Amino acid sequence: MIIKNGNVLVKGKIITKNIFIKDGKIKDFNVEGVHDNQIIDAEEMYVLPGFIDVHTHGGNGIDTNLADEKELKELSGFFASKGVTGYLPTLLTDTHEKTCEVVEIIGNVMEEQSGSKILGIHLEGPFLSHEFKGAMPDDLIVDSSIEKFMEYEKKSNDNIKTITVAAENPGVLGLIRYAVSKEVVVSLGHTGATYEDCMMCIEEGANRITHTFNGMRQLHQHYPSILGASLESDAYCEAIVDGLHLHPAIVRLMIKTKGIDKVIGITDSVMAAGLPDGKYKLGVNDIIVVDGDARLVHGDSRAGSTLTMNKALKNLMEFTRLPIEECIKMITINPAKMLNIDNDKGSLDIDKDADIVIMDKNYDVIYTIVEGRVVYNNSGK
Ligand SMILES: [Zn+2]
Repeated sequence: MIIKNGNVLVKGKIITKNIFIKDGKIKDFNVEGVHDNQIIDAEEMYVLPGFIDVHTHGGNGIDTNLADEKELKELSGFFASKGVTGYLPTLLTDTHEKTCEVVEIIGNVMEEQSGSKILGIHLEGPFLSHEFKGAMPDDLIVDSSIEKFMEYEKKSNDNIKTITVAAENPGVLGLIRYAVSKEVVVSLGHTGATYEDCMMCIEEGANRITHTFNGMRQLHQHYPSILGASLESDAYCEAIVDGLHLHPAIVRLMIKTKGIDKVIGITDSVMAAGLPDGKYKLGVNDIIVVDGDARLVHGDSRAGSTLTMNKALKNLMEFTRLPIEECIKMITINPAKMLNIDNDKGSLDIDKDADIVIMDKNYDVIYTIVEGRVVYNNSGK
């Protein structure tokens, strides 16, 4: 495939360039003398690395805890239409049996991918805090168990990519040690732990913070807690950039404190993303969406978002007033680095995967390409 005349983001700069893609990889930016039947004319369009969402519970009527294989493939198609080339289906805390069942389904779907690519599974729980459970079902939160975690690994065919744990959950340090030894990224979240306990987890290898500022104890001058540890340490910080979970000034403050290379924009989207207001499910919970804001029906907690990734990019540009070259890092190369897949994904370069989103001047998605295959085409051609 050849992509011609696009405004291509390469090495941090947007330049008019061509791209030659072969065997799913970017082979060259010079297409002189190259012949290929499949040519995309990207004149006056942005050609960018595809978006990576490391925290989503679903969209378009599909919930990751409740989906079967067919629905997960549909979800990958929906995300493709939003410019997402890779994502981590995120599982809400559920019963042990249900979690085993769902990770097995996702592991099976990963054998035969279509649309946006499932890069692995994010377990949001069940080793969390009762006090800061947010939308997590209280009775299903349990103490850390390496045995249970090993069962999830096995059922998923070793596709658990990351797990969110609370720093005060009994036995968490042993679990972190084990997970890190298996190259699973450990994230701290849904936690009210002390700063000291959080820093101990980070020293043990936890290197990401789940939806920073949301579902955690807040900053206090005498008790810096998880937020103090999040902002002071080098851990990657997720940010839900829907404009509801975080005031735009907090997004700017995070970028200023952490540096833009350590902030990861996420949707934390639920099945209502892409659909009108109404009643939906989030795992075991009933939720209601009013004006795009998802909340638990029983309880006072927000329950994920209805954000999609192309809107996330627009929001980041609006909140920060930074150029697209800067904003896009937070949804491409940063999550790729956090997941240790940046050799292949997260930026456009020679011999990297051809994971590409092509957008018009208004930043609307025209094409999405995953490993050299067009998985979404809204060009009318
Ligand atoms: Zn979540």
